[in-house]
Amino acid sequence: TTALMDGKRGLIMGVANNHSIAWGIAQALHNQGAELAFTYQGDAFKKRVEPLAESLGSNLVLPCDVEDGDALENVFATLKEQWGSLDFVVHAIAYSDKEELKGRYVDTTRDNFRKTMSISCYSFTAVAQKAAPFLSENSSLITLTYLGSERVTPNYNVMGVAKAALEASVRYLATDLGPTGTRVNAISAGPMRTLAGSAIADAKYTYGFTRDNSPLERNVLLEEVGNAGLYLASDLSAGVTGEVHFVDAGFNVIAIPSPKKD
Ligand code: NAD
Repeated sequence: TTALMDGKRGLIMGVANNHSIAWGIAQALHNQGAELAFTYQGDAFKKRVEPLAESLGSNLVLPCDVEDGDALENVFATLKEQWGSLDFVVHAIAYSDKEELKGRYVDTTRDNFRKTMSISCYSFTAVAQKAAPFLSENSSLITLTYLGSERVTPNYNVMGVAKAALEASVRYLATDLGPTGTRVNAISAGPMRTLAGSAIADAKYTYGFTRDNSPLERNVLLEEVGNAGLYLASDLSAGVTGEVHFVDAGFNVIAIPSPKKD
């Protein structure tokens, strides 16, 4: 029997630990036969990412702080040398100063605005730019976003603005890279209990509100976001590009939750 990702090779960026969304997607891709490489942010993460990668049969694990252009260049040069071509990249990276993921958006500083945009938005474009010369036909680039890009959610603030720009960049990148067969999409995940997720003030409130008011009356699982990543990375989604695909138990369709019956 053949698996969905047999013969496909790609890069996973953004594993910090076994709760990371990037890790959920990596597992789903591995289970369907994909060959994987990983990047980690810095030495602090190396010890955690290497054994995780190894458990999926990968020893291609490279350092990459996305603010460092040389590191990014080196990652893609190494992949080109090792593999020749690349079939997918999963970008699951975001950062903002915790102090600005609470209180009012109006108080955002210029420095943190720049840093948030650079790491959480521009880095995806930089990845597409570096990968483009050796992306295969039928390749797929995937990033992660959140509903706070479109509508206001508590304390998401500057990250919501960065995610709006990220989603716009998905549409421009899809248009630029479409002619050579590369698809570019985002997964808009519901709130997840990850390192990045817990940096947002009152994350517990948002988590509970989403659980109580989603059509499915629950939050999403890492495995479910992983499987959506598999769909977008594989040829199952061959006709899909420029999309923001919600994996959020349906929360985004609700304007006014129905009164609870009990
Ligand atoms: P996570 O903390 O596990 O992953 C975030 C990753 O970003 C980490 O691996 C971290 O090392 C990396 N990172 C931050 N700054 C970096 C830099 N300068 N260079 C390289 N890497 C850097 O949390 P997560 O929730 O899995 O986040 C992954 C993506 O999913 C993010 O884009 C996040 O905004 C998005 N997302 C998260 C949720 C949620 O509720 N957790 C919901 C929707 C979307």
